[in-house]
Amino acid sequence: MSEKLAIPGRVKEISSLSNPIVKDLRLLEKKRHREDTNRFVAEGMKLVIDALDLGWSLDTLIYAASKRGDAKIGGLAAKALAKGADILIVPEKVLGAITRRDNPQMVVGVFKRRFAKASAVTDGSGDVWVALDRVRDPGNLGTVIRTIDAVGAKGVILIGDTTDPFSPETVRATMGSIFGVNIIRMAAEDFASFANTWSGRIVGTHMAGETDFRNVDYGGGPTILLMGNEQQGLTDALVEACTDVVRIPQAGRADSLNLAVATAICLYEAKRESLALEPIG
Ligand code: SAM
Repeated sequence: MSEKLAIPGRVKEISSLSNPIVKDLRLLEKKRHREDTNRFVAEGMKLVIDALDLGWSLDTLIYAASKRGDAKIGGLAAKALAKGADILIVPEKVLGAITRRDNPQMVVGVFKRRFAKASAVTDGSGDVWVALDRVRDPGNLGTVIRTIDAVGAKGVILIGDTTDPFSPETVRATMGSIFGVNIIRMAAEDFASFANTWSGRIVGTHMAGETDFRNVDYGGGPTILLMGNEQQGLTDALVEACTDVVRIPQAGRADSLNLAVATAICLYEAKRESLALEPIG
């Protein structure tokens, strides 16, 4: 673990890319380092503020030296310090190196990863969860997490070997929703046992499903919407765990819908009864 982490609440100014603290932060691009240190990077001031408000643990707040004196960033830094985070003030080239961006955000947060336990999967009437079988694409996972947040579903269950929800690509694609939904990991066998105890529906989506996805009674209780891998679809074992196997009708030449698009279509159907427009303003 890096030397700075042992001393909470320190403010440092660093300009060199070869500084060990900067090297350590740059390594968070790698899954192994995120796992070893239990941290990940999220970019943008609004995201960092929202994450703090939602109780996420901030390890380090990094901001551009050019923004020194900015009242809003100063306020955020004071809040971060009070919560025990370290503060790094760096030139934009260092921010760019940490985030691998040509035009980096001026504020970046390094947070502790957070996974919920299987026991956190709530089964209240109207609760909707999404389970993803071996999702591979970070953009798909990020978009699914964003959509789960948007419709007020509860969270995502990642089944088997999946792409990392805390990779920079996924976090970016969530647009901040990574902080608003529960993320649970399960081996395929554990999901099968869990399914036996689940009181609600498990609606699997499949290219060979015989039920139209609009003909399921989603209003009757909690629902898990189970989505297949991008290349292979759902495994037979997971299909076995479903109470319903549905298909989204298609008319053109496309073999299938994109995973995140299919998830969004089904989520809106599952939430149809409870989602209503609120007046603007
Ligand atoms: N070649 C894969 C197959 O045959 O299952 C296609 C997988 S598709 C890109 C990824 C996932 O999105 C599917 O496993 C399913 O969960 C969902 N999906 C996409 N289009 C769908 C459709 N028309 N009906 C039901 N599910 C669909």
